[in-house]
Amino acid sequence: ADVAMYAAKRRRAGKVVYTPGLSDCTPQRLGLVAEFRRGIEEGQLRLHYQPKVDLATGGAAGVEALVRWQHPREGLMPPGRFITMAEETGLIRPMGLWTLEAAIRQSRAWHDVGLDADVAVNLSVDNLHDEGLTETLRKLLETEQAQPGWLTIEVTETAMMKHPKQAKRILESLHELGVRISIDDFGTGYSSLAYLKELPVDEVKVDRSFVKDMLVDDRGACIVRTVIDLGHNLGLKVVAEGVEDLASAERLAAWGCDSVQGFVLSRPMPSPEATTWLAARETP
Ligand code: C2E
Ligand code: CA
Ligand code: CA
Ligand code: CA
Repeated sequence: ADVAMYAAKRRRAGKVVYTPGLSDCTPQRLGLVAEFRRGIEEGQLRLHYQPKVDLATGGAAGVEALVRWQHPREGLMPPGRFITMAEETGLIRPMGLWTLEAAIRQSRAWHDVGLDADVAVNLSVDNLHDEGLTETLRKLLETEQAQPGWLTIEVTETAMMKHPKQAKRILESLHELGVRISIDDFGTGYSSLAYLKELPVDEVKVDRSFVKDMLVDDRGACIVRTVIDLGHNLGLKVVAEGVEDLASAERLAAWGCDSVQGFVLSRPMPSPEATTWLAARETP
C-alpha cells in the first residue's frame, strides 16, 4: 500500500497517524517516503564505488558499490539517511533491484575497457526474501553478458538472523548461479560462527569496529588476527574494512589478510573517478 496516501487519509479522518513498521511518522518523514519512491522511478539513485586492494599484489581487488540519493533539493544523500526508511516501507526492494542492475552494468563497462573489476553490492534482509531474486539476477547477467563471478553480494549477519532458513535458501541459489557471497560487518551480529558453518560463504569482511583501533588495542588486534586465521582455515577470503592508515594496512598484510578497503586507499567515488583509480592501479 502507498504509505503516504494511507497516512494522509488517516490524518483527514482525524486519526493518529501510525504506519506499521515506520518508526517515525512525522509529515516530513512521510514526505520523504513519497519523494524517495519518485526518486527511484526518476533515476535519482547513484552508485559510488570504493575500491579494495589486494595486499599480496598491491593491485585492485574490485570495488564495493554504495548507494546515494541525488535529492533534487538536498543534494547527495548518504545511505544512512534513507536505508532504514526504505527497509521499513518496502522500497528497499525496487532499490535493491536498481542497485544490482547498475552494478552489473558498471562491471560490464569496466570489463569492456579491459579493467577486470568485480563489484560488490549490499543487500538488505528484504532483498534476500524476494523469491524471484536469483532468477531476476540470472536474467540481468544474461542481458548484460556479464559473468556471475563479477558480482559479490554482501549481507550482514543481522539481515540473515531474521529468517535464517529463507536467507540460507536464497544465498544457496545465488551461490549456485556463481555469484560470490560475502559476510559484511563480520563479528558484530549474533552467532557469527554458525553462519560460517551453514552458509555458502566466499568472503568475510572484518568490521571496522575491530579494525579501527587494532594498533592500540590488543584485544581488537587479537580478534582481527583470529578472524583472518579462521577465514583462511575455512578457505575464505578475508577483507578488512574501514582501514584509515598505512600502518594498519601494513599490519594486516603481515597478518595475511587478503585485502583492505578504507579511506587510506580512497573514499567511495562516482563512476568516472573510480574508472581512473582502477586504471592507475591495474597490475601489469
Ligand atoms: P557498509 O556496507 O559497512 O559500508 C561501508 C561504509 O563505511 C560506507 O559508508 C563507507 O563510505 C564507509 N567507509 C569506508 N571506508 C571507511 C573508512 O576508512 N573509515 C570510515 N570511518 N568509514 C569508511 P556509506 O556509503 O555511508 O554506507 C553506509 C551503509 O549503508 C553501508 O555500510 C551499508 O550497510 C549501507 N548501504 C550502502 N549502500 C547500500 C545499498 O545499495 N543497499 C543496502 N541495502 N545498503 C547499503
Ligand atoms: Ca558492505
Ligand atoms: Ca561493512
Ligand atoms: Ca561496517
